[in-house]
Amino acid sequence: MEFDCDVLIAGGGPTGVTLAILLARRGVRVIVAEKEAGIYPLPRAAHIDHEGMRILQEAGAADAVFATSRRTPRYDFLNARGQVLLRFDRTDRMAAGGWPGANMIHQPSVEAALRTSLASCDTAALHPSWTIERFSQDTAGVTAQLSTPEGPREIRARYLVGADGARSPVREAAGIAFDDLAFEEPWLVVDVLVDDASRLPSANLQICDPARPTTCVLMGEGRHRWEFMIKPGETAEKVSDDAFIETLLAPWDVADAVRIERKAVYTFRARIASQWRKGRVLLAGDAAHQTPPFAGQGMCSGLRDAANLAWKLASVIGGDAGDDLLDSYQPERAPNLRATIDMAVMMGRMVCTTSRWGAFVRDTKFRLARALGKLPDGPADYPPISTGAILTGSPGAGSYFPQPLCPRGRRLDDALGLGHWLIAREDLDTPRFSAFAPTLAAWLDLHQAEAVLVRPDRYVFGTGSPGDLAARWDAALVGGELQQA
Ligand SMILES: Cc1cc2nc3c(=O)[nH]c(=O)nc-3n(C[C@H](O)[C@H](O)[C@H](O)COP(=O)(O)OP(=O)(O)OC[C@H]3O[C@@H](n4cnc5c(N)ncnc54)[C@H](O)[C@@H]3O)c2cc1C
Repeated sequence: MEFDCDVLIAGGGPTGVTLAILLARRGVRVIVAEKEAGIYPLPRAAHIDHEGMRILQEAGAADAVFATSRRTPRYDFLNARGQVLLRFDRTDRMAAGGWPGANMIHQPSVEAALRTSLASCDTAALHPSWTIERFSQDTAGVTAQLSTPEGPREIRARYLVGADGARSPVREAAGIAFDDLAFEEPWLVVDVLVDDASRLPSANLQICDPARPTTCVLMGEGRHRWEFMIKPGETAEKVSDDAFIETLLAPWDVADAVRIERKAVYTFRARIASQWRKGRVLLAGDAAHQTPPFAGQGMCSGLRDAANLAWKLASVIGGDAGDDLLDSYQPERAPNLRATIDMAVMMGRMVCTTSRWGAFVRDTKFRLARALGKLPDGPADYPPISTGAILTGSPGAGSYFPQPLCPRGRRLDDALGLGHWLIAREDLDTPRFSAFAPTLAAWLDLHQAEAVLVRPDRYVFGTGSPGDLAARWDAALVGGELQQA
C-alpha cells in the first residue's frame, strides 16, 4: 500500500509544527492534522529559554519571535514581606544556545511564527479542522482514520507522532499510562494588555505569600501576566469573574495601566508517560510529559523532543539509520525531563505553601541557605544526555554544544547548516570554521580533544580523532551499536 506521507503528526501545537518543519527541512514528507480551526487562544507559555530559541532558529521562526519578546535580568521568589528567598540572576544574558537565557513571549505569536515558517516548506502541510479519530499499526506503517471538513479520510504513514497535547488521544489509544509525579494545584491565569508599562514590575516575580500565592511575569511586547493560586472553596467560575480579578489585582495598583485580555483556570500537574514509543507510534511534547509552569519549561521541553526526534526520524526514513535509532529517544530525553520537572515542582512547592507556619519554616530555610550562598543564582542548567546515541566515555559526550556568535554577529548554526558537524582542530582555520575558531578551539581545549562530532540536535556525539569519530558515527546510525570510547 502506498504511503500518503512519511510522518503523520497529530496536533499542530508548538511541538507538532516545529517537528514538521525540522523534518521537512530534511526532505521528509509530513502531514500535520490539527483538530482546531485556529491557534489555541488561551494563556499558556510566557517564557522560552535559549535552547528553545535555537530550535526556533532552525525552524525559521526565531527572528520573528525575538522581535516581539522581552527580557529581564531577574526571576525573584519573594516572601509575603517582599524579602528575597531565591533569585535567578542574569537571565537576560546571552546563554549557551546563542540566545538570551530567558525570553518572555506570547505563545500564540510563537505558534503563528511557526505556522508561517511551515507554510514555506515544500514537503509538509498543516490541515486545520482535521481530527485523528483512530489508527492501527503494522510492521510497515500506521493507518489513521480522520474526520475532516470534507468528510472522513484515511491516511497511511510510515510513522505517527502524537503531539496532541496533555489529553493526547494518541497516547490513550496506544494504551500508554502516565507516571504521576504527585503535583496538582489549581491556578487562575490572567493575561493583560499594557497601557502604562512604567507602573508594572520590571522583574519576574513569584510572591510566596501563604494568603494568596501569586505569579507576576513579563510576556511579549505589550502584555503582562498574573497567576493566582485558587483557594479551597473558590470555584473556577468565581475566580474567572472580571470583578473578582480586579480585587486580586488591587494590591498591584495597576487599575488604569492594564486591561484584562484573556483568562483561564488550569490544574498544574507533573506527569511523564511511561513509554514514548510503541512500534511506529511516538509521543512528543505535552502528550509525553507535563510540568507545572514555574520553571517555564513545558513548551521548551516539547521543542527539545522535536529536535531530538527530527534527525532520527529523517535518518531512519532516508535509509541512513536503522529503526532502532528511535529507541534512543526516550532514554535520552526522559532524564532531562525529570530534571526540569523536579526543578518546577521544587519551585511550585515553594510557592504553593498556604500554611503560615509552613511559610515561616520555608522562609527561614531559604533565607539561611541564601545567606550561606547555597542556592542556585544564574539560569538553571539541566543534565546532559547520559545514554543513547552518544559515544559514552569520550570527554564531553552528551553535553550541549554551545552556539557562539562570530564578531560580526553571525550564529554558528546559520554558518554550518543542518546535519551533524565534524569539527577538527586541524580545520579551524578553513573558511567554514575560521570566524568561530577562538570559541571552537576553547571548547576543544577544555575537553582536551582533537575533534568533536556534534549531532544534528546540537548535542555532542563524542570526541576523539576525526577519522575514528566519523566511523563510529556511521556505525552508530546503521547498527545502533555504540562501543565505549
Ligand atoms: C498557564 C501555563 C503557563 C505555561 N507557561 C509556560 C512557559 O512559560 N514556558 C513553556 O515552555 N511552557 C509553558 N507552558 C506549557 C506550554 O504551553 C505547553 O507545554 C505547550 O503548549 C505544549 O505544546 P504541544 O504542542 O506539545 O501541545 P499543545 O499546545 O497542547 O498542542 C496539541 C494540539 O493537538 C491538537 N489535537 C488534540 N487531539 C487531536 C486529534 N485527535 N487530532 C488532531 N489534533 C489534535 C490540539 O487541538 C492542540 O492544538 C505553560 C502552560 C500553561 C497552561
